[in-house]
Amino acid sequence: MTAEQADYDLIIIGGSAGGLSVAISSIRSGLSRVRLIEPGNSVAFPELVPENLVDVAYGEQLESIDAEGDHLVVTTDQRAYRTRGCLVSRRHRDPQWAAPIALPTSPNVTVDSLPEGLNDLDILVVGHTNHAAELVAEAAAGGAGVVFAAGGMDPARLAPAADAVLRRLERERRITVLYRAVPDGIGQDGEFPVAYFNDRRTPDLEFDHIVFASERCRPTVAELNVSQAAIDSGKLWFDGAPEDGVDVPNGHSWEVGNKLAEACFPELELVEPPSVVRRRVRHESAIAELREETYNATITAFEKRHSDLWVLRVRPDHGDTSHLPGQYASLGLGFWEDRVDNYADPGIDEKWHKLIRRSYSISHSMFEPSGYLAPPDTEELEFYIVLVPADDGHVSALTPRLATKQVGDRIYLGPKVAGRYTLNSVETPETAVIFFATGTGEAPHNSMVTELLRKGHTGPIVSTVTVRNWKDLGYLDAHRKLEERFANYHYIPMPTREADVPKRYLQDLIRDGDIELALGGTMDPASTHAFLCGNPAMIGLPEGEDGEESWPETTGVIELLVERGFTINKRGQPGNIHFEEYW
Ligand SMILES: Cc1cc2nc3c(=O)[nH]c(=O)nc-3n(C[C@H](O)[C@H](O)[C@H](O)COP(=O)(O)OP(=O)(O)OC[C@H]3O[C@@H](n4cnc5c(N)ncnc54)[C@H](O)[C@@H]3O)c2cc1C
Repeated sequence: MTAEQADYDLIIIGGSAGGLSVAISSIRSGLSRVRLIEPGNSVAFPELVPENLVDVAYGEQLESIDAEGDHLVVTTDQRAYRTRGCLVSRRHRDPQWAAPIALPTSPNVTVDSLPEGLNDLDILVVGHTNHAAELVAEAAAGGAGVVFAAGGMDPARLAPAADAVLRRLERERRITVLYRAVPDGIGQDGEFPVAYFNDRRTPDLEFDHIVFASERCRPTVAELNVSQAAIDSGKLWFDGAPEDGVDVPNGHSWEVGNKLAEACFPELELVEPPSVVRRRVRHESAIAELREETYNATITAFEKRHSDLWVLRVRPDHGDTSHLPGQYASLGLGFWEDRVDNYADPGIDEKWHKLIRRSYSISHSMFEPSGYLAPPDTEELEFYIVLVPADDGHVSALTPRLATKQVGDRIYLGPKVAGRYTLNSVETPETAVIFFATGTGEAPHNSMVTELLRKGHTGPIVSTVTVRNWKDLGYLDAHRKLEERFANYHYIPMPTREADVPKRYLQDLIRDGDIELALGGTMDPASTHAFLCGNPAMIGLPEGEDGEESWPETTGVIELLVERGFTINKRGQPGNIHFEEYW
């Protein structure tokens, strides 16, 4: 060791994907004296070193880290560095780690080590960590054909350098990443190992060599010979998980570089890393794989009544759209899809590969282009959906993602339609039928009204809906046209936030006799069915257990109907009030 100390801004110990990432981002942020100390003779992604002018000291062994004044002193077997900050990014195999499946004893199935003479070998790398990406890159650099079974990998959690290299190799078609695949068995065909995937996407594959990437961990403070003063300085950072009983600053790949820079280099203007969502979305093939696996229907129409209110039509791959008017289906999109806003879903890291599913009533366009009443569609299902905007109290999940979709995009459609909210109890054509809806609660009514009229219903049909503004009436023109054609049909839209319209609610239509006026007679429970859909407050179900029920504080439509002799339709107890609550 020389007595003289070289002055540095940042010393990085260990040329892992994480260390290299921080070296590169620090150089790009304007730090000039950055050195990466690598005890071996190569770093994770060697091609990034010259591309980014990273200064690497190969073959230097760390001896100690101490603090001196407001600097750290990092001592190796070759020299001592005086530095403003230090990141330890050395990794080794986690002693707790065991291969997820039993591995055959074969020189061609290894953990962490690639075979000699990689050129033209077919190699399978199994793992989901930065280290797995390091092995993939090393094998590809050696000329091997690489398949990467990366099931469980979250691209957003990779170190930036690993993320960039994987994407580059994929783009150049030098590797195949199976983002969702994990082998559940390794066998042997003669001398060649075979990976069994046991999922319908991935065939069983034979390779020259299979390598499993172990989980890595960082060395402990004791292993590194770090002084207490260095720990207390706040200038020594660790790439990886915290260590039991030792309070040193630490963080994971994307965040650790920025956290360290904030703590040690206040003069730097930090570049914000791309959002978690953007990081994931950049892995196009990962997203493509998830979509391919999950979605089973295509959006064939996406009509925006206004930016936040949509009529969309969806065609299922299986071709079956049979349903009863009034029923609902479920639609879904993955958490991996982009949001229209900048809100972050709580717990997104754990669920980004999962599907968000929500129920949607099946709506209906009343007219065919020819002007005839439209029969039930046999190829598509129509939905009428409003954006539920996220706010600081609640981050809505599906509709802010649906907002980014367009015609031709794929979507999940639940395999079965469901619901007892149907016209089954309207047994005679003379029955009076009243529909009460809030907002998109009109969706099933559009379908039911068309069905009744198509079948020649003769009794009065009244469809009422409250919305905020006129523009929130997605089917207004069609309803008006129905009224013109069918004398027994009446549409009562009720915007509550229009200056020229008195603010009234659906309850007022009952109290003030508007419904009866539209029906052309009394609301006779003996010959009338009422359908209520949408906001639970409008519906106003009695609260509490059977027998001990009380009406909600704000009077809902049900209470007013019950006062007039109507009864709630229940399983095994037929009634003439039918309802569908949206939440
Ligand atoms: C049987 C059934 C049928 C449904 N049919 C429709 C439909 O045809 N059209 C439709 O737009 N929604 C419908 N919904 C609501 C839909 O399932 C979702 O709850 C809604 O789209 C919000 O999903 P999200 O993931 O964006 O928000 P989430 O994170 O699920 O937020 C849910 C919250 O959003 C609010 N919310 C839910 N729906 C609405 C709405 N329509 N208007 C205003 N606020 C709402 C409520 O406060 C609810 O608690 C239906 C719900 C059910 C149970």
